[in-house]
Amino acid sequence: MTTPDERPGSGWDEIDLADSTLVRAGEEWNSELHRIAAEQYNKAADVLELAPDLRERLRAPRRSMTVNFPVRLDSGEVRNFTGYRVQHTLTMGPTKGGLRYAPGVSMGECAALAQWMTWKCALLGLPYGGAKGGVRCDPNTLSAGEIERITRRFAVELIPVIGPDRDIPAPDMGTGEREMAWFYDTYSQSMGHAVPEIVTGKPPVLGGTEARKPATGLGVVYVAEAVSERLGRPLRDQRVVVQGFGNVGSTAAGELHAIGAKVVAVSDYTGGIVDPDGLDIPAVKAWIDEHRVLEGCPLGDPVGRAEVLEVACDMLIPAALERQITIENAARIQATVIVEAANGPTTPEAEAVLAARDVLVVPDVLANAGGVTVSYFEWVQDNQRYLWDFVEIQERLKRQLRAALGRVVDNADRLGVDWRTAALAVAIERVAEAARLRAIYP
Ligand code: NAD
Repeated sequence: MTTPDERPGSGWDEIDLADSTLVRAGEEWNSELHRIAAEQYNKAADVLELAPDLRERLRAPRRSMTVNFPVRLDSGEVRNFTGYRVQHTLTMGPTKGGLRYAPGVSMGECAALAQWMTWKCALLGLPYGGAKGGVRCDPNTLSAGEIERITRRFAVELIPVIGPDRDIPAPDMGTGEREMAWFYDTYSQSMGHAVPEIVTGKPPVLGGTEARKPATGLGVVYVAEAVSERLGRPLRDQRVVVQGFGNVGSTAAGELHAIGAKVVAVSDYTGGIVDPDGLDIPAVKAWIDEHRVLEGCPLGDPVGRAEVLEVACDMLIPAALERQITIENAARIQATVIVEAANGPTTPEAEAVLAARDVLVVPDVLANAGGVTVSYFEWVQDNQRYLWDFVEIQERLKRQLRAALGRVVDNADRLGVDWRTAALAVAIERVAEAARLRAIYP
């Protein structure tokens, strides 16, 4: 049998496949973050001895979409914006994942984050595959009106691939309740009726839940608390550094302070502040409410954005960006436990250095899973039109995160691997089993 490129006159032979500018199959999602996700995945797949066909199937994103759309700025000028949505697997049910507004958003970044969402949902036993999307923009330089127009137009562009039973967005870096409200309204206007279950992380009055906004940060602290119990060192006796003071970082720092732990340093993109006796976090929050950034904050002593990770402490919580703990600074990290609130904050090279120094890394797919877990509760509520109260949601969240931690620790012991590899192994095994049972269509 001849293949298409062997058929005479097909013209394929005129294409130089060695041309270095050609995008090769599988390289569509190239990015440093996707390399990291792939490396972590391969390590867990090796441990599981995953069959080659399944290994291939679960690695590549199932669907990825790029959209380019015009938006009128306040000045009257029209600017074109690029947005992405990547759905990693459709095997587990609808896909779920945040929308990020940041200058570095790319297809490759979304592909990595979508893959991690798949593992996070599978580890927590949620009936979703992973997705991620976003718009390449700098929300700090855009007005509220401009962000609203970007959000509404982006929502319309995504209609072909999203839906309450297909793909349900949520907040991520640079987006929050406000953007979800606009997204929900735009989708509902297009459908002709209210569809609150199209997004999670909405304001409570629109069918959201009070529990969603603080869910990721609180979940980080619930996991940190359970890990500390296992290590026999109560969280309230520990010194903690939190990098990033947005939704996740400020909530985690606030909860840590409330339970009596010493938050010795915090930071945002403008820099950090440090106080070895513990910062007054409610006062830091009050400063942020008024000034938006930490720059100029009179509390504690100023510390550089990079140096904050190296401040003396027992626990480090990166809650800002990916790739913050690298081969450059891993040897200088003083914490003995790192709880990954951000997605992908530790590179594999840094992780090897940390492992050699016996630093315990609590992986992102477990530590920050509180957000998607409460998003799931919100989606169930919206589908059933039946509301649960805040305390009930908190209790369920705590239970589910503790159960997931138990699965990770058991599998780390059973397989003799680190916690990240154990977490991914639990998740990959679950998705691989579902893929096996659903088999291949047609
Ligand atoms: P956010 O936009 O509310 O806050 C981000 C914070 O990081 C801000 O304080 C910003 O100033 C700070 N920051 C940016 N660059 C920095 C730098 N170089 N050094 C120090 N600080 C810096 O975002 P968020 O929702 O809090 O998300 C933070 C992380 O948590 C991201 O990795 C996100 O993917 C992850 N996450 C968020 C959720 C959620 O529910 N929001 C869920 C799971 C994971």
